[in-house]
Amino acid sequence: MAREGRIIVNTGDGKGKTTAALGTALRAAGHGMQVGIIQFIKGDFNYGEAYALQAHPNIQLTRIGSGFTWLAEDPAEPRRVAREAWAVAREWAMSDRYDLLVLDELNYVVGEGYVSPQEIIEMLRGRPKRLSVIITGRGAATELIEFADTVTEMRSVKHAFAEGLPAKKGIEY
Ligand code: ATP
Ligand code: MG
Repeated sequence: MAREGRIIVNTGDGKGKTTAALGTALRAAGHGMQVGIIQFIKGDFNYGEAYALQAHPNIQLTRIGSGFTWLAEDPAEPRRVAREAWAVAREWAMSDRYDLLVLDELNYVVGEGYVSPQEIIEMLRGRPKRLSVIITGRGAATELIEFADTVTEMRSVKHAFAEGLPAKKGIEY
């Protein structure tokens, strides 16, 4: 097998897609590899991982998202921001600066129709050989699942949220 990097997809409606990707980022960084993380959605939480990972010399993390689309004042804004984030992702992927690139919640952006699975596959085909890419988010596109090397579907058995417990700092964000 000539290809060195892996394409990994973490999908499904259970908890653990983003945190598994971040765990892999730590694993790679611990080996001295260079890691880029782009988070495609900006919620209203103070995500703990951003504080922890930004301090790591081998990890570059950025979050580019318009937040929740239904809250946007200008209806064209979410698409514009998503396209901007995708341009950054492509630039990082092609830069050959990284061994691992995490595209967190990219599946969400695809689901909204802002980026097509074909665009992603085209980028993955043209990427530097050493680069591994992890794509997370519910509802991964079939084309992406077929193209990836490793796909995990998180299945929710139960989640405290359904019992009415609020999102917990340090666990959910
Ligand atoms: P995590 O970031 O904890 O690994 P995730 O990436 O798998 O979760 P997302 O779909 O990105 O999950 O969900 C965003 C938020 O919702 C996170 O705070 C996450 O912990 C929480 N969450 C994940 N799965 C569930 C679920 N089945 N029910 C309720 N909340 C969930
Ligand atoms: Mg997530």
